[in-house]
Amino acid sequence: MELIIGSHVSFNKDKQMLLSVTEALGYKANTFMFYTGAPQNTKRVELDDNLTKEAIKLMSDNNIDINNVVVHAPYIINPANSKNRDFNISFLRQEISRVEKLGITKLVLHPGSHVGLGINVGIDNIVDVLKNSIDDSTSVDICLETMAGKGSEIGCTFEEIKSIIDKVGSSHIKVCLDTCHINDAGYDLSDFDKVLDNFDSIIGLDKLAVVHINDSKNTLGAHKDRHENIGLGYIGFDNLMNVIYHEKLKNVPKILETPYVGDDTKYPPYLFEIEMIRNKKFNDNLVTDIINYYKN
Ligand code: FE
Ligand code: FE
Ligand code: ZN
Repeated sequence: MELIIGSHVSFNKDKQMLLSVTEALGYKANTFMFYTGAPQNTKRVELDDNLTKEAIKLMSDNNIDINNVVVHAPYIINPANSKNRDFNISFLRQEISRVEKLGITKLVLHPGSHVGLGINVGIDNIVDVLKNSIDDSTSVDICLETMAGKGSEIGCTFEEIKSIIDKVGSSHIKVCLDTCHINDAGYDLSDFDKVLDNFDSIIGLDKLAVVHINDSKNTLGAHKDRHENIGLGYIGFDNLMNVIYHEKLKNVPKILETPYVGDDTKYPPYLFEIEMIRNKKFNDNLVTDIINYYKN
């Protein structure tokens, strides 16, 4: 089976998902992830069915299985805070129907921050939003992302994620494991088999729907959440390769969310990171190769 790998890509008003697929193909990726609008706000454009059809055609012409494609919900919505409860529910319902309309089945969501309400109240708020947003008949799975534990973030332990899944009680709740986030949360990726066994015994591997592959600018347990390019951070190339090529994760799409490089961080690293991952060999000149490629 071929490795399922891609990255975060753009989406805009004019080209919509057609832009996302084109960008992914430029990185030699066979999957991708995008926001259906700006990640930091909830303004969303009307979807154009003709552009969606063109995008789906381009995917099938290039062996991209749409079931491996991911949408990320905007991180501005905080389901753990009851303050905007009604808005959170209506926005999430709309986001789920947009994802359905695009033919995509995976929607990644941050559990959010309890902002001083406490973990238990925060979890109850998340459960309330999810229960009121998901219909049993939907084809979309909400993939709760494992978090770094920055501030009052919920979801930085497998137990917290499991508790949300159990309380919602829907088969449409899945999990997105982010390597930078779990490192920062204190899960040691130098023994990934142990981390995965732990995940399996608490949540269950059948729930793992997406893996975000990022190195980390911070040490184990730092609770920071700052992504680093593959092999240039504290997790390191070999540990990330163990995740990427793990036999138990072979059917799970891997998505890079590593930072752009160069002046004004304007060059995407994904073409070169994907190449390095496929070659299974660390590129010592990663950043200069990227800059030279895009500069010309
Ligand atoms: Fe995320
Ligand atoms: Fe992530
Ligand atoms: Zn992050």
